[in-house]
Amino acid sequence: MSSNEVSRGAVSRKKKKVGKALMDRHHHLRCQDEGNQLPSAPAKGEDSGGCCKKGRRYGLVSFRELPEYMKDNEFILGFYRANWPISEAFFSLFRWHNETLNVWTHLIGFLVFVGLAMANFVEIPRVADLLGLFSRSNSTSPDMNISYAKDLLLVANALVKLKRIGLESDRLEFPSPHDPVTRWPFFVFLGGSIFCLLSSSICHLFSCHSYRLNVLLLRMDYVGITVMIISSFFPPIYYIFQCDPHWQLIYLGGITVMGVFTIVTLLSPTLSTGKFRAFRAMLFSSMGFFGIVPAVHACIVNWNNPQRPITLAYESGMALSYITGTLFYVSRIPERWKPGCFDLAGHSHQIFHVFVILGALAHYGATLLLLEWRDKVQCDMPI
Ligand SMILES: [Zn+2]
Repeated sequence: MSSNEVSRGAVSRKKKKVGKALMDRHHHLRCQDEGNQLPSAPAKGEDSGGCCKKGRRYGLVSFRELPEYMKDNEFILGFYRANWPISEAFFSLFRWHNETLNVWTHLIGFLVFVGLAMANFVEIPRVADLLGLFSRSNSTSPDMNISYAKDLLLVANALVKLKRIGLESDRLEFPSPHDPVTRWPFFVFLGGSIFCLLSSSICHLFSCHSYRLNVLLLRMDYVGITVMIISSFFPPIYYIFQCDPHWQLIYLGGITVMGVFTIVTLLSPTLSTGKFRAFRAMLFSSMGFFGIVPAVHACIVNWNNPQRPITLAYESGMALSYITGTLFYVSRIPERWKPGCFDLAGHSHQIFHVFVILGALAHYGATLLLLEWRDKVQCDMPI
């Protein structure tokens, strides 16, 4: 090979390198546009929102490029997904955009509450009944079945009772002579929280798909929040007023009526828009503030109960978390102070989500204390 040929080869390789670098740079700038570092209006004829053609990754768009139905928070300037197909929206669970942390905060909360529900479910004596049923189906003769199953059931029940007494004698000075109090109000609360956290995660993940799905999922999200608020009332009201069933009925009936009114009101698509953010917060908060009435009543009734201060501390922690979260939700702080700086992390909705989980965990702690107390002190015993 001559020296001329070598230098021609080197020049052509250099040209190729420069060309590739220019293409990469062009691609990088385009991605920056898509990621909205440089918000720009869509070009004529270009579809606003959805970005890339077949076989290419869907890009992110700016607030100005969003379809009207997605313009909710003007202080978040970029990193939006818009008009994405369902599959692309699903896999965006593992991509960075302005909803990533909104989805994950409540998805992690959902998993935590599923774990708590399962941990509590295996603790309850009913599991022994299930074991009995299962063993019955494995036997051969029908007569043998019944006596064998009865024996097993008795043994299983005795074991669970022994375990409970053993556990309680560790915690208390004497075992309770009563059966443990019913757990269904506790599971209503856990179920309500699980539903709310899951519907919120689904809403944040898929509402970028289309106008119709966006409206549907937003309504589902509001129904989830309402269900969580109503279900949170069940354990404290049920266990505190267990010996006064008419108060149980008045308070649980009252909050359920308020919840149904809230759901019916929020089913209007207009009320799902950003303009009515404060109105929605007011509806949810009024349901929360309704809790002050039974809380004051419960304090008066249980004034001498040694567990009152600690339960009250947990419930105050819950109220404080929800109020703080709502203030962030309504005020849209900190992104209103520095629009565009908190698009990916640190904006008000993410902070609101974290406070919702903290509030639910504080309420869970208060409910465990109430259960422990009601297992010890039942209606025929003085407090
Ligand atoms: Zn949310």
